[in-house]
Amino acid sequence: MSDFLLRLAEQPATRSLIKSIGLPTPQKLARASGAYADEPLAGRRVLFGASQGAFAANTVENALKDAGADLDKSAPTTLGDEHKFNALVFDATGLTGASDLRQLYDFFHPVIRKIKANARIVVLAQNPATAADVHSSTAARAVEGFVRSMGKEIGKKGATANLINVQKGAEKYSVGPLRFFLSDHSTYVDAQAVTVNKPKKAPTKIAYSQALAGKTALVTGGARGIGAATAARLAAEGAKVVVLDIPADAETLQATADRIGGEALALDITGADTPQAIVDYFSSKGGLDIVVHNAGVTRDKTLANMKEKFWDMVQAINLEAILRVDDALLEAGTLNDHARVVCLSSIGGIAGNMGQTNYGATKAGLIGYVAARSDELAAKGIIFNAAAPGFIETRMTAEMPLMIREAGRRMNSMSQGGLPEDVAELICFLSTPGAAGIAGNVVRVCGQSLIGA
Ligand code: NAD
Repeated sequence: MSDFLLRLAEQPATRSLIKSIGLPTPQKLARASGAYADEPLAGRRVLFGASQGAFAANTVENALKDAGADLDKSAPTTLGDEHKFNALVFDATGLTGASDLRQLYDFFHPVIRKIKANARIVVLAQNPATAADVHSSTAARAVEGFVRSMGKEIGKKGATANLINVQKGAEKYSVGPLRFFLSDHSTYVDAQAVTVNKPKKAPTKIAYSQALAGKTALVTGGARGIGAATAARLAAEGAKVVVLDIPADAETLQATADRIGGEALALDITGADTPQAIVDYFSSKGGLDIVVHNAGVTRDKTLANMKEKFWDMVQAINLEAILRVDDALLEAGTLNDHARVVCLSSIGGIAGNMGQTNYGATKAGLIGYVAARSDELAAKGIIFNAAAPGFIETRMTAEMPLMIREAGRRMNSMSQGGLPEDVAELICFLSTPGAAGIAGNVVRVCGQSLIGA
C-alpha cells in the first residue's frame, strides 16, 4: 500500500533522477491533522476577487476574514516569489452572459503562476439550474469547464481548483464548502462542483469547529480502510461513533472502536435481521444523526466470465443492503431530523470500469439513490449525498494487479493515489451542519482522476 515513486520524489537525491528518466514527480500533499480549527486560514495569503454584480461577495469576504485569512483584494502588479498566494478565490456569481467569462481570464491569468505548492483555488458561480435566464445559466455552466481545466494545470503542484454553484439566497450555505475547499482537509478533492441550495429545513446553528458534538454516527465496513479513517475523523469532530463490520472481523473491529472511544457492532450488513438490529440498537440511544454506508466489495471479472454468485454478492453488499437499512431506519423514525447519510460511490460508477459491470452498477445506483432521496426528506432536514473515491491506497486497491494498480495511481492531476484519510475528510465535511445546502450531490475525491473525469 505504499507509493515507492512518491517516496523517491520526496528525496532531493532521487527526485532529479526520476525527473531525468521522464517519470512523474508527485508533490507531497499537505494534509490536515485532527479536527477543524476556528481559523483554518490563519497565516494564509488569499487573493479574493469578484465579478461585477456578484451576489455572494460580501458573504465570501466575511467568511475569509472569519477563517483568519491574510486577505488581498488586488494583486500587486509585480509579484515576487515571496508574495505567492496560498489561495485564490473568485466570486463569479455576477456573470450574466458569455462575454462576462472574460472576467475569469482577467482575474486568474496574471496570478495563476503565483500560487504556492498545495494552493487552493475556489470559484463561486450561480447554480446554473436556478439562474434567472438562459444567458446567465450558460455563463454559470461555462465556469465548470474553466475550473476543471485549471485544475489540470495546477495539479502537479498538489494544488486544487473547486467550484461552488450557489443559488441566489443561499449564500450563507456556501461558507461551509468554502472553508472546506480552502483548507488542508480537502486534499485530493479536486475539480469538483458542489451545488448549494437553500435547505428546506435550516440547521438551528452552524458550528465550524467541533462540528459534530453530540451527534451519533454509524459507519458500516468500519473495521479498516476508508471506514476506520472515517470513524476516527467523525470522532475527532465530537461524534459518538459506532463501527459495524462482519463478525469474522470482530477483533479488528473492536480494536478500531477502542482506538476512537467508540462502539463495535459485529454484523453482516446483508443479514436478514440486520436492519432491525440496527434500528433497535440506535432507538435506545436517542436515534442516529449520521450514517456512512461504506461497506463494499469488488469481485471483478468481465461480464462474460462473471459467475452469478459474484454478481449477486456485490449487489447485495454494495446496494441492496443500503436500501434495506435506510428503509428500516426511516420507517422506524430512527434517523433524527437534520440527519446526514453519506454513501460510498466510486469513479467506477461514473465512468464504468473494465471488469466491473457488477460494481459499476451498484456505485452508479447510489448516485441515483442520493439524488432521489434528497427531495423526499428535505422537509426534515435529512440529507443524502455520495462520496466517489478515485484510487485510494487501501487493501482493496493493494489487491489489484501491478500494472492496473500503477495506472490507476498515476492517472490523475496529482500523479498519486489518495489516502483513506482524504476520503474520510470529505465524508466528515458532508456530515457537518456547514454542508446543509448540499443535498443529492456526488462529490469525487480522486485528485481529478482521468478515469470518470
Ligand atoms: P476495504 O476492503 O479496506 O474495507 C471495506 C470494509 O467493508 C471491510 O472492513 C469489510 O470487512 C467490510 N464489509 C464487506 N462486506 C461487508 C458486509 N457484508 N457487512 C459488513 N461489512 C462488510 O475497502 P475500502 O477501500 O476501505 O472501501 C470502502 C468503500 O469505498 C467501499 O464501498 C468501496 O467500494 C469504496 N471505494 C473504495 C475505493 C478505493 O480506491 N479503495 C475507490 C472507490 C470506492
